Amino acid sequence: MSDNSLRLVWIYPDLLSTYGDQGNALVVERRARQRGLDVQRLDVRSDQQIPTSGDIYLIGGGEDRPQRLAAERLRRDGGLNRAVSNGAIVFSVCAGYQILGHEFINDLGEREQGLGLLDVVSTRGEGERCVGDVLADIDPQLNLPPLTGFENHQGVTHLGQTARPFARVRFGKGNGVGDGYEGAYNDTVFGTYMHGPVMARNPHIADLLIKLALDVNALPPADDRWYEALRQERIAAATQPA
Ligand code: GLN
Repeated sequence: MSDNSLRLVWIYPDLLSTYGDQGNALVVERRARQRGLDVQRLDVRSDQQIPTSGDIYLIGGGEDRPQRLAAERLRRDGGLNRAVSNGAIVFSVCAGYQILGHEFINDLGEREQGLGLLDVVSTRGEGERCVGDVLADIDPQLNLPPLTGFENHQGVTHLGQTARPFARVRFGKGNGVGDGYEGAYNDTVFGTYMHGPVMARNPHIADLLIKLALDVNALPPADDRWYEALRQERIAAATQPA
């Protein structure tokens, strides 16, 4: 953070932005502006270098091939790892989440190296694809209301020793390995399987990232009515049988 301005970096909108994940950037931007911050948003395409001076980095989900291309470019670039070692905050969704781990299975059925920013490993799920609305309780340490989102993934994610589960599912599959966990985090790097876009349903996650960036414990209240209506609609969809 410098002065009153927040630098928000949206990584690879040309490769990783399915299910409206780009909405996460809009929500973080809006919630920050509502708190009087001046937001500089930078959308970094996959042929551009990742700046290392961002405060918050967002990375979305994607199909298997773009996911492999994104992983190759991010490894080669190295900027995201440098930004995290400088204290940056990262929030990733689905394919992006898998890329931030140690490895995942790519579209060729091979093990693809990730960035190692999250202590997780993703493998290909043997069962049915995990698809549908999810309701989960976020790690109490983060002090956030329940998580609502939509999942659609074949990969499943195993947490290593140092990763904390982001949430524990009440409905839905989450990480898909049967331990009830959804997502993971290591310090300021977060991963979730929730699309939606997840921040439109869970604006408190955007607020958490902003608080971490500002290094404050609380933000002035913002109008949550629209988000709350969407939350309630989607929680009903997750908890009622189809
Ligand atoms: N290709 C990955 C999987 O199926 C991620 C999919 C996604 O981002 N929706 O596990």
